Amino acid sequence: ATEILPATIRRLEESLINRIAAGEIIHRPASALKELLENALDAGATSIKVTVKDGGLKLLQIQDNGSGIRKADLPILCERFTTSKLSTFQDISSLTTYGFRGEALASISHVAHLSVVTKTRSESCAWRACYADGVLTPPKPGQTADPKPCAGNDGTLLTVEDLFYNTPTRLAALRSGADEYKRILDVVTHYAVHNSSISFQCKKVHFILVGQAQADVTTPGGSSVVQTVGLLYGNTLSKDLITVTVDKTKVTESLWRADALISNANHQSKKLVLLLFINNRLVDSSRVRRAVEGVYAGILPKGASPFVYLSLLLDPKDVDPNVHPTKKEVHFLNEEAIIECISDHMQSALVKQSSSRTFETQT
Ligand code: ADP
Ligand code: MG
Repeated sequence: ATEILPATIRRLEESLINRIAAGEIIHRPASALKELLENALDAGATSIKVTVKDGGLKLLQIQDNGSGIRKADLPILCERFTTSKLSTFQDISSLTTYGFRGEALASISHVAHLSVVTKTRSESCAWRACYADGVLTPPKPGQTADPKPCAGNDGTLLTVEDLFYNTPTRLAALRSGADEYKRILDVVTHYAVHNSSISFQCKKVHFILVGQAQADVTTPGGSSVVQTVGLLYGNTLSKDLITVTVDKTKVTESLWRADALISNANHQSKKLVLLLFINNRLVDSSRVRRAVEGVYAGILPKGASPFVYLSLLLDPKDVDPNVHPTKKEVHFLNEEAIIECISDHMQSALVKQSSSRTFETQT
């Protein structure tokens, strides 16, 4: 009999480990963008402009007018687990920011070329820095790696180029620039609706320096959620929206609140449009999805789907944002009871509206 020899266990190279870890967080251009948008929002920006080339694979650029980054912090900006937002484990249960793990920029720097131009209000000039694999890198061969003074606006301009240049399998798995751009537009649109007081812009360019491409998403800021939905999804929809609010319910011991805008029976789209935010974070939940479909099953004809924007505010201590590397999947206490309560409110709001309409046409 042939002897089966055990394989030798070797330690992976550090750079490979980091690249694998980065892939867990940054799946595609849209997931990088989500992290960058959240950083801009965390920095208190009131204007966020996104520029995209080839679905974000060639270029993904975010300009915000937020706090900017202190020059002294630039050397560790892209190191793993460097954050200005979390310092003790207790802090996780009272999080009010999107970020907390200091992993996003580090991850991006392992799978793309990353550079930043940033200016705080108190500094007289902006600083430019480039990063590779978590650390500062010279912008050009022969130059030093340290940040260089330059012209720039208050806030931060982050440029991500050649995403996944060093992970060819990941790059090959992504379908097309057009498909990736659609996902990017979705992320920007959803955040623009939820943050209707903030001005968003998203456009694609073919050559970064040539021409003023028309923006595909533009919101003025300072609007209401309904106005922004009208602007981005069409005014016909905004006329068919019902507001549903569930406030301080005694369904569970903890306080929570839900604000929703849901389409009525007049609106019939081909696919369910669900904008779900839990504590201001864009998330997905198959449970909520199913509950919404259940609510509309008796209201819309077969094959028709509604528009639902749902913002849930829960006690931060009831939410664990750390179950999923992308923070996309969020779990919270009393999930079932809360979703059922919201569904009931949606159901009765829809029934109430349709019966009042029947009443109107009868008289
Ligand atoms: P996290 O958001 O989890 O802290 P990130 O890697 O996304 O981690 O960002 C690291 C740090 O860089 C943040 O804590 C923040 O201090 C700073 N930062 C990132 N983006 C911006 C921005 N657009 N404006 C100001 N500061 C930023
Ligand atoms: Mg972040």
